[in-house]
Amino acid sequence: MSHVPTVDAEHRPDSAHLVEAVNVIKHFGSNEVLKGVDLTVDKGEVVCLLGPSGSGKTTFLRLINQMETLTGGRIWVGGELIGFEERKGRLHVRHDSDIARQRSRVGMVFQRFNLFPHMTALENITEAPIRVKKIARSQAKAEALALLEKVGLSDRASYYPAQLSGGQQQRVAIARALAMKPELMLFDEPTSALDPELVGEVLKVMKELATEGTTMIVVTHEMGFAREAADRVVFMDAGVVVEEGAPDQVLLHPRHERTKLFLTRVK
Ligand code: ADP
Repeated sequence: MSHVPTVDAEHRPDSAHLVEAVNVIKHFGSNEVLKGVDLTVDKGEVVCLLGPSGSGKTTFLRLINQMETLTGGRIWVGGELIGFEERKGRLHVRHDSDIARQRSRVGMVFQRFNLFPHMTALENITEAPIRVKKIARSQAKAEALALLEKVGLSDRASYYPAQLSGGQQQRVAIARALAMKPELMLFDEPTSALDPELVGEVLKVMKELATEGTTMIVVTHEMGFAREAADRVVFMDAGVVVEEGAPDQVLLHPRHERTKLFLTRVK
């Protein structure tokens, strides 16, 4: 889509923020999914996005990762306007190669473990570094093995996805995203498709990443994870941010009725 979003041209990103989203609007036809979302994420911050199904959380992540295009508003990642560039005071759609470069700065883990089924765990992890970043195969392999160790799967390097449990596949998916050395990691309900007994092993890896200072935006219904790992919780409903704050403040002392209602339902 070559649609250029309209936003107050005056706004400039604050360099302290790794992500800055301003008045983000997204429509799918007549469905107004995001109605002006503002959100900032600082480097090293872990932000959990909560909210009822259909409130626009996934769409917001997909916009940050440029899997969807904005209807309105702007998003900066690392100080760079995504999707568009400003020349002579006007916004122009970026070239595909530039968009690919921007996307490689962001790692994403999806609800469904979408590993390449015909590749081993190791090959899944080395594929993008070799093909996109042109990293030497031997180096990519060494880094992938280190990542497999980090997610507790050193002994599964040569396994195919079908030979791994859902939790193991999701940990490979996390390692695969990390292999591109992203500045930002997006998680879209990474444990919601898992059997309950496999949720913990994935959350453990995510908590470790959080502790190491990885900048993360996590869409989740795991309230325990949000309380333990998040620096900030953002509650969305019907395409707007209803409230945000420290996890204990939002989860234990929500200010808004909609947040209270949601929390009584998920507990
Ligand atoms: P959440 O992640 O909070 O459950 P989503 O962002 O997945 O919410 O969805 C918000 C709304 O956007 C839903 O009404 C959904 O049907 C709609 N939607 C999401 N993606 C598309 C798409 N590609 N085309 C049309 N509608 C979409």
